[in-house]
Amino acid sequence: MLGIYIHIPYCRTLCPYCDFVKVRTKTTVPEAFTDALCSEIDAYDGPVDAQSVFFGGGTPSLVPPAQLERILGALHNQFTFHDPEITLEANPDDVTDELVQAWKDLGINRISMGVQSFDERVLRYLGRRHDVGGAERACEIIARHFDSWNLDLIFGAKPIGAWEATLQRAVEINPPHIAAYGLTYEPGTPFEKRMDDAVDPDTSLELYKELERILADYDHYEISNFAKPGRASRHNLVYWNNGEYAGFGTGAYSYLDGVRARNHSSLEHYLEVPGEKEEALTLTRAEEKVETMIQYMRLHEGIPRADYETRFGCAIEADYGVALDALVARGLVECTSTHIRPTSEGFYLNNEIGLELLSAVLPE
Ligand code: SF4
Repeated sequence: MLGIYIHIPYCRTLCPYCDFVKVRTKTTVPEAFTDALCSEIDAYDGPVDAQSVFFGGGTPSLVPPAQLERILGALHNQFTFHDPEITLEANPDDVTDELVQAWKDLGINRISMGVQSFDERVLRYLGRRHDVGGAERACEIIARHFDSWNLDLIFGAKPIGAWEATLQRAVEINPPHIAAYGLTYEPGTPFEKRMDDAVDPDTSLELYKELERILADYDHYEISNFAKPGRASRHNLVYWNNGEYAGFGTGAYSYLDGVRARNHSSLEHYLEVPGEKEEALTLTRAEEKVETMIQYMRLHEGIPRADYETRFGCAIEADYGVALDALVARGLVECTSTHIRPTSEGFYLNNEIGLELLSAVLPE
């Protein structure tokens, strides 16, 4: 079943490290954007059975509830939902009891909150608009209303020594899901000029191991994701299973019928011609296979052999025997009778697994 991704490209302030598709708004998301989004959804003519919706951004918590209602109405007209997980990304500063109740009333059943740190100095370094008090207050409200919610954290920002205390605080707050990413200094962002601040790979690995150690009570089910039982992100599992998804909104990606496509990332263009693709690529069978392997290798569980056989009509070893032998010899992958999966070393050096799989030449 499909995952549905909705990209809301508006933020109140622009964080200097961020390379997502976004523009600044002084108020909330303009009605004209929701008009464009709904017309794109109305024109959709792909597969319709869906299991999840993810409002990402940008800052989806800036969409007024009346507009969220319109977007969800358009989705319900087009798609058949099966017990859907409906996630909305929120900025802590936007969270109020009243707004959260409105989200629940609309059927949103999961919140992902970009807290990033519980250290004031780190939040200032990252240029976030919320402070620690605002983050704690927002967590308290979300925890009161939702059984399923996620806390986003970033490691590697200055001062890096604040990471352990942030993790301890996160564990005390006890969200059912935590996602943690290393800070990157992307070209084209204001942080490009601060590249010298970037931590070296050894330090980054230390911070990552600290994350694993302090979140030991969580299931570390994906490289960057930790969940309490039953709280893994169903929407993101669509990506990690290399499943199909339909994306709507500025710059949103879709993967349908073997075609990966991206909407225009210019907001002006999107408002004029909603849903027009800036890029579309039909994947070959070999590309689909390697992408499937790489995505599954982000999961602790790895790839079930039976799933690969059902999807591609052959055993994994028939395609990747040589690459897997090399990865097993390097201690990055282990093969069981039912699964091929990354070892803990394979989590740390996940890129190496991807490179080895990409080096396998498969018949078209
Ligand atoms: S990190 Fe989030 S809030 Fe900050 S600019 Fe990027 S999308 Fe907006």
